[in-house]
Amino acid sequence: MRARRHPLISTENLMGGLWDPSDGHIDPAQLCQALARRARAAGAEVYRFTSVTDLTQHADDSWTVHTDKGDIRAEIVVNACGYRVNEVGAMMGVEHPVASMEHQYFITEDMPGVMEAGHRIPLLRCPISDYYSRQEKNGLLVGFYEQECKTWGMDGIDPKFSNDLCPDDLDRVMDVLEGAISRMPALAEVGIKQVVNGPITYTIDGTPLVGPIPGKRNAFCIIGLRAGLGEGGGHGWLLAQQIVHGEACYDTWALDPRRFTGHATQELTSLYAIQDYQNEFRFHLPHEHRPAGRPAKTTPLTPILEQAGAHFTVVNGWERSDYFKPTPDFVEDYGYRYTKVHELVAAEVARVQNHVALAEVNGFNRIEITGPGARDWLDYMICSRVPRKIGKLGLGYLLNDYGNVKAEATIANLPDGRIWYGSAAAAEFHDMDWLSKHLPKDGSVTLRSLTNDHTILVLAGPKSRAVLSACARGDWSAAGFPWLSVREARIGHAPAIVMSVSFSGELAYEIHLPNSALFAAYSALMRAGAAHDIGHFGARAVDSMRMEKGYLHWKSDLITEFDPYETGLDRFVCRDKDFLGKAALMARGDKKRRRLRMLEIDATHASPQPSDSLYAGGRRLIGSVTSADWGHRTGKNIAYAFMQPDIVEGITVDIIGKPYAARLLNGPVYDPDNSRVKS
Ligand SMILES: Cc1cc2nc3c(=O)[nH]c(=O)nc-3n(C[C@H](O)[C@H](O)[C@H](O)COP(=O)(O)OP(=O)(O)OC[C@H]3O[C@@H](n4cnc5c(N)ncnc54)[C@H](O)[C@@H]3O)c2cc1C
Repeated sequence: MRARRHPLISTENLMGGLWDPSDGHIDPAQLCQALARRARAAGAEVYRFTSVTDLTQHADDSWTVHTDKGDIRAEIVVNACGYRVNEVGAMMGVEHPVASMEHQYFITEDMPGVMEAGHRIPLLRCPISDYYSRQEKNGLLVGFYEQECKTWGMDGIDPKFSNDLCPDDLDRVMDVLEGAISRMPALAEVGIKQVVNGPITYTIDGTPLVGPIPGKRNAFCIIGLRAGLGEGGGHGWLLAQQIVHGEACYDTWALDPRRFTGHATQELTSLYAIQDYQNEFRFHLPHEHRPAGRPAKTTPLTPILEQAGAHFTVVNGWERSDYFKPTPDFVEDYGYRYTKVHELVAAEVARVQNHVALAEVNGFNRIEITGPGARDWLDYMICSRVPRKIGKLGLGYLLNDYGNVKAEATIANLPDGRIWYGSAAAAEFHDMDWLSKHLPKDGSVTLRSLTNDHTILVLAGPKSRAVLSACARGDWSAAGFPWLSVREARIGHAPAIVMSVSFSGELAYEIHLPNSALFAAYSALMRAGAAHDIGHFGARAVDSMRMEKGYLHWKSDLITEFDPYETGLDRFVCRDKDFLGKAALMARGDKKRRRLRMLEIDATHASPQPSDSLYAGGRRLIGSVTSADWGHRTGKNIAYAFMQPDIVEGITVDIIGKPYAARLLNGPVYDPDNSRVKS
């Protein structure tokens, strides 16, 4: 039996397929010429056959681009050099996490089935046999994602390799080719006209790097594009907005080159590239982190937690405990529905709620800010206030020039003029870039990253005070060390900075430690905790608990598209002082484009996924989900979503293809007056 739309397909053992009537393809050379023509018309100069040989940056941050045909002075440079990205990166002292893979397709001779079809043969992507195909003149183009794949250019690229191809190597794709032939038997009877084997660039997460180059001024990149023809237009548009306006109309974190940090070498990238290539057509399921390149970043506790049963997730390259397995051979059944891990997380949450448990939150971004101007400068950088008293801490929100939320930090006022700025692990390069860019020119403020030298143990639960008191000298009572306090202490003999702050909503202490003291502190806490049946908890338990408390995640719920009022952070905006972004924020007045809402979903089998759409009155789109998780203490399926501000009822969200009712919640659903954290 043959399919109607694709008459070359055999439908034997085929359950179905998806047909996209708007799919299509474009000739790359013509596309490139068309873009160049429009750029020239807009005033751009295009120098063909001109090699960039070096880059020099000047004191005013502008550049001289040295070429084999002379120098060009430029205010801003963009590295868009395809597979030569790292040659040009090296010219400015940057190693980009981009690696190339050889990729092959062939074009057949004319095929009767194509000529007789009477319509254009649709594009085909086969997720089972890992090939794709489309019509090319009167034949087919068939491309392959083979398991025996190859990196390319790791040991340098021949300078003469330009508009060039790698040698044909069809032996490598034989396994995939067999799958293509059994689905399109006519392929077995047609000759191959041409083989194309060329390099394709990959990044660590398969998504390009589009935006500012970390640690550089006036330098951007648009690199690591796997499907540059298909996606180049949109990425170019977003990059142009970032260059011209400093920010694009959408939050571009998913593309931001600063999302990878010190671990992101080309070697690591190549391991991810191989894995991605081998899984080209396979869905990434929620919570799934594939094995390539792991572990990249660890602390001295990682092997100890592994022995205790930790299953790790990856956060900015760090192996972080996600949950603890009941037996060493436990394997997670990834999926969109709640899995058997659901009950494990429930047990971890119950231990935190009723007893005490310990988690390592490694990789947390930490910058020490010092200097005579530190306090006033940081106070200008955030819309809330830097705590005045030594020994106090608070949350700070940094806005961009448009008054939208740029970053979130825990700000701790320590003795000796030190301020600790703590933010999400993923924010390491991003926040350092943002803060450095705004430093006063007079040298009155100094930034020092402690991210890779320090880590955090979180001790949480009603018995956490008893555990801490048993192994650390000092008055840890609610009066002696109230909520939002910070102090230097010794955990056993290990030097630490302890903060009374909680992301779980239970009484909790963040214990900040140099990595060298981590194991000593952990051992002291576990010994002291034995009397209270101390256990471990992981990131998934934290996520469940933070959802019930209304606590937000940077780059899920805190994004550059919305301001602090729209994000529900009104209480953190101090209108009676000056701060970065204030003018734009005030100019917008009370107008709200969207509002971040907390919702309860009528479903017990699965949570929505971030970016899932919300509807009202049937299928009218009114917003999208930013975070969602099951609240184990309250038995509620909770989601946060940016929504049209006026919608209050008739809301639904699709979960695995079916609509479920969603009701607005009015703030935190667990201990809304914070009596437990303050207890
Ligand atoms: C076999 C194969 C099949 C593919 N199929 C598809 C597909 O179906 N759909 C799709 O969307 N994509 C496909 N791609 C990928 C696509 O070709 C790339 O994603 C796209 O070309 C990347 O565009 P780019 O501009 O980033 O880099 P490139 O196209 O590599 O352009 C980089 C440019 O920088 C120039 N350059 C480099 N170094 C220097 C220097 N020192 N000085 C001056 N100039 C320099 C180069 O000469 C080049 O012109 C395929 C690739 C291959 C190899």
